[in-house]
Amino acid sequence: MTAFEVINPATAEVVRSVELASVEETDAAIERARAAFPAWQAVAPGDRARLLRRFADEVDGAIEELAALEVLNAGHTIGNARWEAGNVRDVLHYYAAAPERLFGRQIPVAGGWDVTFQEPLGVVGVIVPWNFPMPIAGWGFAPALAAGNTVVLKPAELTPLTALRLAELALAAGIPEGVFQVLPGAGPVVGQRFVTHPAVRKVLFTGSTRVGKQIMAGCAEQVKRVTLELGGKSANIVFADADLEQAAATAPYGVFDNAGQDCCARSRILVQASVYDKFMELLEPAVKGVVVGDPGDEKTEMGPLISATQLDRVLAYVPHDAPVAFRGSAPGGPGFWFPPTVLAPVSPRDPAAVDEIFGPVVAVIPFAEEEDAVRLANDSEYGLSGSIWTRDVGRALRVSRAVEAGNLSVNSHSSVRYWTPFGGFKQSGLGRELGPDALEPFTETKNVFIAH
Ligand code: NAD
Repeated sequence: MTAFEVINPATAEVVRSVELASVEETDAAIERARAAFPAWQAVAPGDRARLLRRFADEVDGAIEELAALEVLNAGHTIGNARWEAGNVRDVLHYYAAAPERLFGRQIPVAGGWDVTFQEPLGVVGVIVPWNFPMPIAGWGFAPALAAGNTVVLKPAELTPLTALRLAELALAAGIPEGVFQVLPGAGPVVGQRFVTHPAVRKVLFTGSTRVGKQIMAGCAEQVKRVTLELGGKSANIVFADADLEQAAATAPYGVFDNAGQDCCARSRILVQASVYDKFMELLEPAVKGVVVGDPGDEKTEMGPLISATQLDRVLAYVPHDAPVAFRGSAPGGPGFWFPPTVLAPVSPRDPAAVDEIFGPVVAVIPFAEEEDAVRLANDSEYGLSGSIWTRDVGRALRVSRAVEAGNLSVNSHSSVRYWTPFGGFKQSGLGRELGPDALEPFTETKNVFIAH
């Protein structure tokens, strides 16, 4: 084991030292998960459901503690962090309904009877990024466990604290040893071992498109099942007929939430040219009004970036000659702070309009007609999320069908609701999480024919 210092991004101070697992320790965890699988698979559906609900209750009892940990570890605002812990609870309850409803089919055939079963896969490796450590972990482990799999979860090196606490809560709820383990470690060590170890039957990876491609290529060696939730460069399309006040007032929350470190961040605002000036006039006070500071303060709306490395990355997209239209505030002093920043007007081919910056920077791009907005929105290797602001129902429907993205919202910046499928088109990912769609990918369909 090697020690890794977990840093509070708001102060740059060390919070705690966490041991990172070696390849041998990863193998041992995978072996424990493999050993625990047959008994977990055999747990009666109602009992598995009850255990997941008890796990949800344990999380519910620890909301404040988990939220405080995430403020400390990830710099999330306390309000967001409470929502994130509550989301883990809700997702556990949602999938607790599944063990009793994983129905197969009876299919009419000649010469006998035919039935299908949804069998669990075995050991599932879940790899999680640092931007939303709790919810993204829950979106993986809750449906995986509900379907009868055992799980080894690797949190990001930078943000292991809440995941480690969730593993303790699972044990307190009575989930048997080995069924749900959390193993902090380096991506190329622990995460890579999930890819190469033959007992891991599926990898669920959330993170950058760059690493996602490596995971997919590695999994191909064993035809290993893989779900990928990757990066994004989502468009917020504002048409001239929209409620401009509302669109401008909420636009900062569509991109600066979690300091822009959000795969669904609407980091390109496409504005119809005829209302460009008016929209920018309305956007300026909204951006300047974002309350940036101590994430533990109930009034704070935006905290720090996760690390010094991330701060450097964001700074590189905003050089001294960048077209900064206006920006909000950020505290000075220690910690990894960057103010909400609006770049405008930006050419659609500018790196700030093309790359996923993963920081509080938004590029504003004017467009002329509806088809130009669709073309610009789709002119990206990504396709995760996006918003469409218009009062014209026909246009809302046309544009939402034409934009190549997995999660769109009309007159809203909402991306995630645990009842509905979530995932990306193009290089934003492969497969879907949440909602009913997330269950089947944690199972194999088995067909059995019984002769007359
Ligand atoms: P990252 O790809 O660097 O790391 C993600 C995880 O993969 C971490 O746990 C890391 O340790 C691990 N990892 C790194 N190298 C690995 C390797 N070679 N083999 C196996 N595992 C490895 O991403 P990040 O910087 O932690 O997170 C930010 C990225 O995540 C952004 O691109 C963001 O858009 C994306 N993201 C996507 C979603 C989604 O649902 N689509 C959600 C959140 C974040």
